[in-house]
Amino acid sequence: MDSKKRGVRHEPSANVRRLWRAVVDKSEADNFGDARREWFVVECYDASACDPSAPAERCVCGHEPITECFVLRNRLNGNVLDPVGNVCVRQFGRDDLDDVVRTLHDVNRLRSAIELLGDDEELPIKRSESADNRAPLTRRAAEWLLRAGAFGSRPGDGLYWCSDARAFDIVASALSKRRPSGELLRLAHVIVERRVRPYLASATMTALKSYV
Ligand SMILES: [Zn+2]
Repeated sequence: MDSKKRGVRHEPSANVRRLWRAVVDKSEADNFGDARREWFVVECYDASACDPSAPAERCVCGHEPITECFVLRNRLNGNVLDPVGNVCVRQFGRDDLDDVVRTLHDVNRLRSAIELLGDDEELPIKRSESADNRAPLTRRAAEWLLRAGAFGSRPGDGLYWCSDARAFDIVASALSKRRPSGELLRLAHVIVERRVRPYLASATMTALKSYV
């Protein structure tokens, strides 16, 4: 590609250069262009959710504070980069990593929404039910929750007839329909309240695992 088509090339910022160095230092390849392919996301944690009084987390590029912290592992040598902020994960230029970041962000947002809910309030699941008009539960978050086991039966949930796959299908169907029937939407809410919400609210869940 000639320079006219490419347009003006900006020098990478100091943070981006520090990220490249941090990645290459722990990779087998000796340049970022190849090294960036050696990494995958293993988990994501929300620094403020773990301990509100803890010092701010600092990305491997030097940027701070970061709230959503990603842990990356090298598939060739097992090295770990921790934490990497979402902006820096995007610097890897890989669609698969971007998908993981978006998915874990959605799940994390759902978890924060639950923390702010009163015990007698239901978690909104459709855009039309949410105050800020953002989709509270996204399809990709629901898929992650299925893999995490959040749709599985819980003691006393009263949904003995409903396998985890069936529960997911009901919720996914309610999410995908522009106007789900009242009955479908009600059932989706029951599943979310009795299975997904207790899963997301469990105190031990400090880090979100990547299932990719
Ligand atoms: Zn960074």
